[in-house]
Amino acid sequence: MTDFEKLKEIVDNSHRIVFFGGAGVSTESGIPDFRSADGLYHQKYDYPPEEILSHTFFMRKPEEFYRFYRDKMLCLNAKPNKAHLKLAQWEREGKLRSVVTQNIDGLHQAAGSVRVHELHGSVLRNRCMKCGRFYGVEKIAESEGVPLCDCGGIIKPEVVLYEEALPEDTVMQALEDIRSADTLIVAGTSLTVYPAASYIRYFGGDHLILINRDSTQYDHIAELVIHDKVGEVLDRL
Ligand code: ZN
Repeated sequence: MTDFEKLKEIVDNSHRIVFFGGAGVSTESGIPDFRSADGLYHQKYDYPPEEILSHTFFMRKPEEFYRFYRDKMLCLNAKPNKAHLKLAQWEREGKLRSVVTQNIDGLHQAAGSVRVHELHGSVLRNRCMKCGRFYGVEKIAESEGVPLCDCGGIIKPEVVLYEEALPEDTVMQALEDIRSADTLIVAGTSLTVYPAASYIRYFGGDHLILINRDSTQYDHIAELVIHDKVGEVLDRL
């Protein structure tokens, strides 16, 4: 039996899959990965992306933040890929409990997934820091400089910046789903981002599967490790 056949058998017999996805799930939709060699870190900018995307930087230099953010973080033309579509299908079929994602692009919902735990928030949601009014992503994309609310407050994306805590409710629900999953598929992540990587420890189900282009430090605890593109693998299932 090949690894792929094993994977197919596990998925076919699972009823409560949780899919934990990282940047690699979105790169196949053309969204750059922060940490990969051809990702944002190796592009030229006045400051390193990690600094620009920090809470301190946002508060001190919102104009500079938004210049970078509009240019690099808003990928509004990106479309769901085969991985997103397959996961949405599994949810409709009752095989998948939820998607837990580190991505902020909203592509899982665009593909039709309903139960999606966005650990790092979403570029699609934005809020006035003064009055709390909600704004869609158009407001950010269509404004120039620092986007302002009608009340004069600065609008901030509901994206978890460096130095900021992950949304507590989302984390709780994600962990609960991981705890009660029969199969956990971890894909498109190098599992180096704390604390998300530690969530694997909450899994008590039968089958832990890793799908990633490169090897990770958790490969040895997985039942099955597939080094390939996520979309390509899921599409064949
Ligand atoms: Zn306001």
